Order: sequence, then structure tokens, then C-alpha cells
Amino acid sequence: MTKTSMPVRSKERFLVFGSPAIEDQEIQEVIATMKSGWLGTGPKVAQFERDMAAYKGSKHAAAVNSCTAALHLSIVAAGLKPGDEVITTPLTFCASVNAIIHAGATPVLADVDPVTMNIDPEQVRAKITPRTRALMPVHFAGRACDMDALCAIARKHDLVLIEDCAHAIETEYKGRKAGTFGDFGCLSFYVTKNVVTGEGGMVLTNSDAHAARIKTLALHGMSKDAWKRFGDEGFKHYQVVEAGFKYNMMDLQAAIGIHQLARVEPYWKKREQVWQRYNAALGNLPLELPASIEPENRHSYHLYTVLVDETRTGVTRDTFLDGMTGQGIGVGVHYLSIPEHPFYQETFDWRPEDYPHATRIGRQTVSLPLSAKLTDQDVQDVVTAVERVLA
Ligand SMILES: *Cc1c(COP(=O)(O)O)cnc(C)c1O
Repeated sequence: MTKTSMPVRSKERFLVFGSPAIEDQEIQEVIATMKSGWLGTGPKVAQFERDMAAYKGSKHAAAVNSCTAALHLSIVAAGLKPGDEVITTPLTFCASVNAIIHAGATPVLADVDPVTMNIDPEQVRAKITPRTRALMPVHFAGRACDMDALCAIARKHDLVLIEDCAHAIETEYKGRKAGTFGDFGCLSFYVTKNVVTGEGGMVLTNSDAHAARIKTLALHGMSKDAWKRFGDEGFKHYQVVEAGFKYNMMDLQAAIGIHQLARVEPYWKKREQVWQRYNAALGNLPLELPASIEPENRHSYHLYTVLVDETRTGVTRDTFLDGMTGQGIGVGVHYLSIPEHPFYQETFDWRPEDYPHATRIGRQTVSLPLSAKLTDQDVQDVVTAVERVLA
């Protein structure tokens, strides 16, 4: 075997895509939480909510057990009825669309801008009907959507604005934090995201009423602060005020999140450096790199996506994916567009060709590792692997 036929990384050193940086502080906090005997929703969750609300400049933050739950509860709390339409992007994780469906509303897709990969306000305008009640933009990869245009559309048509901020913890649009523009901002702390709790999510809102409703819905529909019934202030009956869900976050999860959030800025800087190294090292290859970042906005550097156009690279996207994996580098696809999936085709009659930009991106895109955990050697190995796969 010649040297170059060996993979860049052996099987034992496979670089797992999205593997998070976990440090001793959160490990110790989890142990302390376990020893405290209070594993479920309690003081750590309350602290994580306060910390995130302060970071985001949001009046309220309600922790739940996933971003999917956060999106679902936001739509329920917005009071949408069956037949009400929610416009979102075809270039998103299926959870965005499924949350709309589970809340009883009807998803409608508006294609993305081919450069920013974010929902295109022109396409949104074309999809407004008398039944449109809400907009659910996704700040794709961590790049801020065109919030001036989307907020103007929401105001004009009296729409609820729910930001899917699963990629966008650090994202800012013209100096304002993503997730604070509309009625609800939904965060994810899934293992691959920029702040992790294993599984976890949060709803940001400036409305006292929305925050109270979300907290009630997230815990079986029990009246607010039901967890206090386990305190030492004497027995308290709880009251169920509506049929809610089991979406609460545990203190065990918040114990991780508190320390992850405290490191959100150094981790962001680390990913910015990786991003710039990729830009410099991959610029001469026949790949389409992420569009340059609008100077007035702040990108969260959640996903570094390259487009593999077979007519330029000579290899298909899927060959590229296999090649990278064969080189010991884990890669991702964000995302095969929503209309490519059989369920949505059968249920809504969506066709990929009706969303040409999302379809092309979904068929060409590859996400390279972009985690605060990456060492200089890891980044070099990714670059070497890309060069070999395209050679
Ligand atoms: C990850 C993700 C979600 C779902 O987040 P979970 O916390 O896993 O439920 C929703 N939308 C987008 C865009 C995502 O990337």
C-alpha cells in the first residue's frame, strides 16, 4: 500500500462530525446535580433560562427538551387553528415542518435565496394567502435572514413571527440578536449545535403571556411554577389548566448548558478561525464556498457548507461524501430539501422542481466539521481529505 492510499485518518481516529467540546466544569456540575438528588426541572433550569435570556437580551426564556418542542409550543401558543398556513423554508431540518404539522397548521414552503441559502422574502410574498398566519424563517448555517424584509411582511399581513434559531445562538442582524425579532425565537442544544445539553431547547419571547403559556404547555398543562410543589414550603396542589405536553428540560441537562453558554464566545472565536482556515485553504479548489458574510451582521459559524457541482469537480456530491468518510472525516448534509422526502410529496404534493434553489443546494451541499473541539491537526486533516477526494 502506498502512503497516499492510506486514509488521512485511521478508523480509530475517525473525526466525528459535530462532536461537541465538553469540559470539566459541566462534568463536575452534572455530578453535583446528581449528588443533589434534584435531577428534574429545578434551580439549574431556572439559572440556564436566566443566563440565556441575559445573553440574548430577551425578556423571557423557557427551557424545553428540544428545539422541535420549542417550535411546536410556539405555534400552539400563537393560537393557530387547523387550516392556518405557516410559511417556512424548504432548506431546513424536517423538525421545522413537522412542528407546524403537529400543531395542526399547514406548512407552506417559500424557496431560498441561492447565495445566502435563507428564505427569500420575494418568494414569501408570493406565497401569502388569506390563510397565512405565521412565518417561520430559519437562520441557515448561522447566517441571519433578511429580517428587515421579513418583519415588514409580518407587520403588513399581521403574521406571527417564529424564528428557528437552531443554528443561530450567536447570530446577529444589524446588531440585534437572532430570536428577538418576532414573537418567538427557538433554540436547539442538540449534540451538534453551538451550545449543547445532549437534547434540549428553549423558547425566547418578550411577552409575559406567551412565556407563561409555553411553561404551562411544556409541563402537562399544569399551572405555572408547578415544580415548586416539590419544595419545602408545604404541600401544594397543582392544577391542570389545559392538555399540555411532556417537554420540560431536566436540571441534568441545564447543568451542562450553563457552562456551555458561559463559553459561547470563546467557542465562537474558535469556529471563526476554523472557518477562515477553510476559506483560505479551499479557495483554489473547484468548490463553491459559503458566501461572504454581510459586514453588518454576525454569523454564528454553525455550519461550513461547500457545494459540489459535478460539472466542475468531476465527482458527484455523494461520491464526495463517501470519499471524505473513507478518509476518516465525518461530514454532514444540511439538507436534502424538504420536497425530496416522500412523506411531504405524498401529503402536500410538493415537488423538488418547484423549489429549484433549495433543491440544487440540497443535492450539492456538504458540511465540513466545524466544532470548537477541532485541533489545528484536525482542520489540516479535513483540508487534506478534501484535496485528495477532488484529486
Ligand atoms: C437541529 C434543528 C432543529 C431541531 O432541533 P432539536 O433540538 O434536535 O429538536 C430544528 N430546526 C433546525 C434548523 C435544526 O437544525
